[in-house]
Amino acid sequence: MLFNIYIHDLPETTSRKYGYADDLAIMMRRQTWEQMQASLNQDMDTFAAYLPEYCAPAWCRSPHARKVNTAINTALRTITGCLNSTPVYHLPTLAGIAPAGLRREAATLALARKAQRYNWHILHNTTTTALPLHRLKSRHPYNKAARDLLRSIPEDLSTEAWLAAAWKQEWESAGPSRIHRYIYYPGGSLEGEDLPRRQWTLLNRLRTGVGRYKASMRKWGLEDRAVCEFGEPEQTAEHIITTCPLYKPPSEAGLFDVGPEMRTWLSSTELDI
Ligand SMILES: [Zn+2]
Repeated sequence: MLFNIYIHDLPETTSRKYGYADDLAIMMRRQTWEQMQASLNQDMDTFAAYLPEYCAPAWCRSPHARKVNTAINTALRTITGCLNSTPVYHLPTLAGIAPAGLRREAATLALARKAQRYNWHILHNTTTTALPLHRLKSRHPYNKAARDLLRSIPEDLSTEAWLAAAWKQEWESAGPSRIHRYIYYPGGSLEGEDLPRRQWTLLNRLRTGVGRYKASMRKWGLEDRAVCEFGEPEQTAEHIITTCPLYKPPSEAGLFDVGPEMRTWLSSTELDI
């Protein structure tokens, strides 16, 4: 729905485009969850997965692309229920949407391949001929990026396959962590997306180990004590998941396959992180 509203008013300049991404992020923050829920999945996925790639091969090497990343991460945090302190690498995997930087590179690769293949393409000469020597060093033109990608990626590897492999590599290099033990290939949709918001959020905060655990709350200066209900001096994710007599979920693996036992636990636990 948001996409349809905005698609008729596509931004014409790069700065407007960043504002446009911010507008969407602000709109999403101002709505309550109940207001958003009906159309949220579609809108968020559209926003986080497609909109930020608008003309990406032209602007993705700009240092200002970071501003778009900030808006995307805000949207991904809304989708996954993760806190600001959650490491960014978790967000695309939990949302099932490839990292924005890699998607833009994939968009550049797809454009470069098309421009190289067809001599009628407006970028054919730009893509196939060397960069003019008089270009300023500080610029990051499409020409060089496209030629580098065409040189380094085998022709028989599809753009989709390249993106999947690059995401896997990025994911592996961010580990190891608890979540890496259960997710080898990022990109699939995770179990539990159908759960009510509170349970989905709780699940993701257990999966990432970043949430309002008492040890974290004390570290952030929001609580005086980090002690858990039965006297454990530090209420951490590790304590909750492995030993807590009060809040321990049925199993660690259950946080990822979300079977019936885990669903029952999620609906009845009083754990609030
Ligand atoms: Zn405990």
